[in-house]
Amino acid sequence: MIKTENIEKYFTNGNEWNHVVKNISLAIPLTSFTAITGKSGSGKSTLLNLLCGIDQPFKGRIHINGNDITSFSKRKLTKWRNAEIGIVFQSFHLLPSLTLIENVMLPMEFSSNKKNKKSRAAGLLQKVGLENKANMFPDYVSGGEKQRAAIARALANDPPVLFADEPTGNLDTENAAHIMELFLALKNENKTIVMVTHDLELAGKTDKIIHMKDGQIIEGPAAAPRARGAGFI
Ligand code: ADP
Ligand code: MG
Repeated sequence: MIKTENIEKYFTNGNEWNHVVKNISLAIPLTSFTAITGKSGSGKSTLLNLLCGIDQPFKGRIHINGNDITSFSKRKLTKWRNAEIGIVFQSFHLLPSLTLIENVMLPMEFSSNKKNKKSRAAGLLQKVGLENKANMFPDYVSGGEKQRAAIARALANDPPVLFADEPTGNLDTENAAHIMELFLALKNENKTIVMVTHDLELAGKTDKIIHMKDGQIIEGPAAAPRARGAGFI
């Protein structure tokens, strides 16, 4: 279970405070696929960054699979993140100086399991349909292929939970559909997936929609009817 209790986040520009996440309590069951939707600036990325420990809340608690990540030291948080979750970004974040397979192998360096890195990475690239591009550099493959490689990298240490922030934001409809198919397949392999997206059609294919407005979770039009009541505890 992914659970937050009354989390708050503010940002400041030095003069004033911007209240970006307002007292959010939510519960996301394991092995579900959840979409977080909402207008630009509504706090979706901030909420996701809090859930995956990239950022810390000002107040409140975050529990992921029984771990209170808000009580973790920086060092423990980094270790936890590498072992227990995978993160996919809109702009892929692949290292341009490494080939796709080297990008996928990279997180394995920080894991206790360093055996068969190359064959495991090759297996992950095959899973996302990139077995023929393993030795190419990111700049020489398409956006859709970059994102598939980024998903393979997020899976490097076989984490139970995947977070994705607008993973299809830089892709055309066809590539976006391909990425969505991958996530749906991963969900069927019992991964827990939380995906921020603008795309209501894609969000409609998930199990549950959490709709955000002004730093709060609301039941907006995007959340109805299948996600009615979802996202709250
Ligand atoms: P969304 O992902 O829904 O577009 P964000 O979570 O990125 O929204 O941003 C919500 C609000 O928080 C915006 O007003 C944004 O400008 C502000 N914000 C986000 N990150 C930072 C930051 N690191 N420093 C200051 N303000 C930020
Ligand atoms: Mg965002």
